[in-house]
Amino acid sequence: MIELRNLEKRYANPQTGQDFYAVRDLSLTFPDGQITALLGPSGCGKTTTLRMINRLIEPTGGQILIDGADVLAGRPEALRRRIGYVIQQIGLFPHLTVEQNVATVPDLLGQPKGKTRERVRELLGLVGLEPAQFAHKRPAELSGGQAQRVGVARALAADPPVLLMDEPFGALDPLARDHVQDAFLDIQRRLKKTIVMVTHDIDEALRMGDRVALLRGGELAQFGTPDDLVRRP
Ligand code: ADP
Ligand code: ADP
Repeated sequence: MIELRNLEKRYANPQTGQDFYAVRDLSLTFPDGQITALLGPSGCGKTTTLRMINRLIEPTGGQILIDGADVLAGRPEALRRRIGYVIQQIGLFPHLTVEQNVATVPDLLGQPKGKTRERVRELLGLVGLEPAQFAHKRPAELSGGQAQRVGVARALAADPPVLLMDEPFGALDPLARDHVQDAFLDIQRRLKKTIVMVTHDIDEALRMGDRVALLRGGELAQFGTPDDLVRRP
């Protein structure tokens, strides 16, 4: 379980000399094995929140706990193995094959090649890319949706219990997005990762999220199940 307690990110504005809050007094819990969607318009603090969880951005206040342990007390590098990160521009290595891209983290960790190869093929199957057909392709030979699936497989290859996803389906056309979302929900039903997913798309949040956190101006405006969110009082 990930817990944010009064999390805050403040930036100094050199023009006015006044501080500006990208995220303010944010307290939120992301339950294990569930997808929580961080929803809200551009600039409301979604990406800043997400990046504070894996310490790509350092908070100016508050706490982040993962399974009760204080994330901000340890070394940021220690987090990277436990937390996968998927972004819209997935940045596959163009000179590596699909298989080599997915194997990046296990290779870096020095895991046995044979075992990694087996796992990579399993993951490609899981994201709906037939290994025999795709393992040896290069990123330039893939469609946007296929590349995005490789990005998901690569994030899963390190087998992190936590996955942070920033607009993971944002770059896809509507048809490909439907497919990749379905494939992803299918995987999640089996893997039960703890997922925080940033989106500005309310349909995506309601479809993918077990819980939805609505942000407005860096603060939590609403939090609940998709049903809670759309039900009018
Ligand atoms: P992305 O969402 O592509 O990861 P960033 O996290 O770099 O992009 O930026 C997110 C938002 O914050 C954007 O709207 C950007 O214009 C704004 N932003 C980024 N850096 C600064 C900065 N130094 N000063 C003001 N606004 C910034
Ligand atoms: P979102 O992901 O919801 O689009 P962000 O978290 O990227 O929003 O940004 C929240 C606010 O913080 C925005 O107003 C953005 O311009 C501002 N911001 C983001 N990064 C910086 C930065 N490095 N310096 C100053 N302001 C920033």
